[in-house]
Parts: sequence; structure tokens; C-alpha cells
Amino acid sequence: MITLTGKKVSEGIVIGRLVFFNRGEREVRRIYVEDAEKELVRFQKARVRTAEELQELCEESAGELGETNAMIFEVQQMVIEDDAFLNQVVRIITEQKLNAEYAVRESAREFLKTCGARPESYVRGHEADVHDVVARILRILSRGRKDRMIMDEPFIMAARDLYPSEAVRLDKTKVLGFVTMYGSINSHTAVLARTKGIPSVIGLGEALKKDYEGKMVIIDGFDGKLYIEPDQTTMEKMKQKKQQHMQKVETLERLKGKENITQSGQKIEVCANIGSREDIERVLRSDAGGIGLFRSEFLYMETPGRLPTEEQQFQVYRLAAEAMGAKKVVIRTADLGGDKMPEGMEIQGEANPMIGYRGIRISLDKREMFKTQLRAILRASAFGNLQVMFPMITSIEEVTEAKKVLERAKAELKEEKTAYDENIRVGVMIETPAAVMISGELAREVDFFSIGTNDLTQHTLAMDRTNRKLTGFYNPYHPALIKMIRIVANNVHLEGKHISICGDLAADTDMTETFLQMGIDELSVAPGKVLPLRKKIREIR
Ligand code: PEP
Ligand code: MG
Repeated sequence: MITLTGKKVSEGIVIGRLVFFNRGEREVRRIYVEDAEKELVRFQKARVRTAEELQELCEESAGELGETNAMIFEVQQMVIEDDAFLNQVVRIITEQKLNAEYAVRESAREFLKTCGARPESYVRGHEADVHDVVARILRILSRGRKDRMIMDEPFIMAARDLYPSEAVRLDKTKVLGFVTMYGSINSHTAVLARTKGIPSVIGLGEALKKDYEGKMVIIDGFDGKLYIEPDQTTMEKMKQKKQQHMQKVETLERLKGKENITQSGQKIEVCANIGSREDIERVLRSDAGGIGLFRSEFLYMETPGRLPTEEQQFQVYRLAAEAMGAKKVVIRTADLGGDKMPEGMEIQGEANPMIGYRGIRISLDKREMFKTQLRAILRASAFGNLQVMFPMITSIEEVTEAKKVLERAKAELKEEKTAYDENIRVGVMIETPAAVMISGELAREVDFFSIGTNDLTQHTLAMDRTNRKLTGFYNPYHPALIKMIRIVANNVHLEGKHISICGDLAADTDMTETFLQMGIDELSVAPGKVLPLRKKIREIR
């Protein structure tokens, strides 16, 4: 038996075979193919699909980003129709009998070298577009390959690291848990694991070897351990630990239907955080008082290369609204950027993505995309108690601008005679020191605040939450943070408005008493943390 120790991200014990995740476009291998004709068909299908995706993107973007930006996709279309490029791919597949991925990558290199050198070539100055379109073809080719990798039997996934855009697509019926070599416990991949309740351990380093592929392993998410080929004693011990945990969960079930009230009678709301349609079921089982944070940006990552349409978003928000009945559902508008970029929308050349083009900045820059989301939220607001919240706010102007787009969306719906909640409540995330400092003024603009302690810690301490080297420094208990939360709570209450905390600190039961003393109105946590938090609240005197 081999024991590896990493950082615990999400609790639970799971047993299964280890399967390594290969990120298609990163690892292009040179593979000999028996049937070149079949490989050629595979390539042609991927090329047709690429053309279709580009066409869709081009149409979607023409209105939204302007004709100039839509041209980018036209250049990419030209590349996949270019004989110089295509003939080379076909030659490598048929003459050298090599796989399509390798043929595409090699042909692109050759194409850039020859055509890119010619001054009159359309490729000149568009090298990044060639890389983009190649990445798209490789991604499409890898979709088929990934399906083949998925086994019938559920397994434990191992990876070097996982992007949030990959973690969001993990199929919980197949992936029992995951372990990685690198990564940070504060990243959105970790947040997703906790939200979905997928046991996981990260930061196992180089000790997590590819040789372990297919071996039986146990993840102990409570202690941050991975046991490879566990011996009988460990197996028994882990099964027992799992049993004990299940018993604890069963005891917690008795708290369902009970109030979140301290022994001295102070009440606080406990809501749940979600990131997808699948998480709604977990919220219902958790007996949360509502959905305090719907991280809607994850909807933008479910289908690589494609953003969700108004209709698709509407269906998900409506489902959440109807499932929760009278209970509230707070939809945070897309907090894209940072470590949350959908595949195909990645931004090149950002030195500091966490303080870069993200959150409300992208929404206000791409107003059509923003309005599409607001229309979907508004339409769904006719089916339940929906509220809308803007992320990464730093100024009053951002809020007034965002509200203008909301009003425009309302006006359109009114004109179309589509039902929506005219009085939908509007809130902001408090995630930046700037928002803390102007929280008094901000409170006059909105109905509620939700403090995102993950980002607030990152921005207050000037520490990238995804930087694994900073794990020992990143301190959400820093006195500066606690003071900030207190300031915000006081300011918002002076205006008679509602305040919640939805960052990971909300679930930390060592902090519950402090938050109650501050008069925080609501804590919003991963669904699996609702009942443990209720238990803690009820024990406080
Ligand atoms: C936060 O920053 O604390 C938060 C809740 O938002 P996210 O973790 O999605 O950035
Ligand atoms: Mg945040």
C-alpha cells in the first residue's frame, strides 16, 4: 500500500479505480493509425463541427461585439477552408498513417511558418486566431476520445490540475471523487467540489504517478489522504470511518424542519450555494432556507465553445425558482474571468487575471450578453422568488449602470408582454476593499449585500487565491477581514437592508458566534454544510 498526503478540499470517503484525466488539446500525441480512411472521416467530421461552431459564434457576436470582432471568426473560418492547411492534414493522415490530432497540430505549425511569412497573407497578424481554431478542432476531436475514456464503472479521477470549466462538467454518477497533483484549496475547482459534495484531495504533487492508473484507491477527504492499493486493515478502517460519517449525517437529518436559532433566541437564515441545475436537488435535501448564491457563470462553462442562450438560462432559473417555491433564489450574474473562463473565451495576455477582466466588468463591457442573462432571470422571476446580484463591484457607477441594463431588459419584456417580477430585489457582492469602504453609499442603491469572503480575502491581502504557494499565507481570519465584515454589517443595517455572507467562511463553525454577534442576517453555504451549521447555531448560548 502507498499513502499520499495532500490538502483536503471536500469531505467524504470513496473507494474506486484511479483514472487519469487527459486534457485533449494540451497533450497531442503522435499515434500510428491502422485505418487511415477512418481517421480521415474523424478529422472531416471535426472540421465540419468546427465550421458550425464558428458560424454560430460569428452570428451571436455580430450583434454583441460588433462586426469587427465577428471578423475574427471569419478569419478562423478561412483557415479551416484553406487548401494549404487541409492538404497537409490529409497528407499526414493518409501517407504517414498518423492520428488526426497530430496531423492538425503539425499542419498548423507548417502553415504558420509558410503562409505567416508571406506579407500578403491573411494569416499575417492573425497568428492567435490560427492557434484558437486549432485548439477548437483539437477540443472537438478530444470529445469523442473522452467518451471512450469514460468507463461503465464509477471511478476516481486523477489529474495534474483541474480547471473550474472542467470540474463543472464532472458527472457525479461516474466520478466518485478526484485527486490532483497541484491546485489551491481556495480555487473555484475546490468550491465546486464542496458544492457538489465530491470527496477530493489536491496538492499530492509528483508523488501522484501515472503508474497508478487503474489501481484500486481510497480517498479520505477528511484527512487529505490517498491510499493506493490499500491493505485489508486500511480498507476496514476506512469503511468504518465512512459508516461513522453516515451515522453523523443521519443524526443531522433530525434537524430538518427546525429553526436556525440560538439558545438565547437569536435567529439567522441559512441558505445554500449552487452552481448548476443538478445542485438544486441537493439544496432541497439540505432543508436550506433558500438559494443564497447561484454561481451562474458555471452555466457558461457547461458546453465548451458555446455560451448559454436566453432560453437555456431561463429554463434553469425557472427550475430553481419553482423547486424552491416561496423560498428565495439569488442569481448572481455571471462572474466570469479569473479562474472561471469558459473554453473558447480565454483571454490572452492578462498578467493578473484575478484583478483583471472579470465579473461585472465583463458584463458592462458585453452589454448584449449581460442583457440576455438579465432577461432570462426576469422571465424566470415570474415563477418564484428570484433575486439578482452583481459580482465584483468596486463603485456606485457600476451598480447604476448594471441597474440601467436591468431596466432596459424589463422595458423589453413589458413591450413583449412577457411576465416578470417588476419589484425583483437587487443586491451586490461585497468582495473588494473598495466596496467595503463605500458600503454605506452602496446600501442606498440596493436591497441587499452578500459578502464574498473568498475574494474579499484575496483582494484585501493581495494574495491570489489560486496560487498554491500562498496557501500558508492566505488567512480568511485576518483581523482586517473581520473588521471589514463588521463595517459592512453596520453600514447595511443603518440603511435597514439585508446582509448575508456567502464565501467559504460562512460555513466555518468557528466563526458562527462572531457572525451572530455582528448581526449578520444570513449565511449561505454548500448544501452539505446547511445542517452542520444549523446544529452549531442551535448549540450557541
Ligand atoms: C466569494 O468570493 O467569496 C464568493 C462567494 O464568490 P466566488 O467564490 O464564486 O468567487
Ligand atoms: Mg467571488
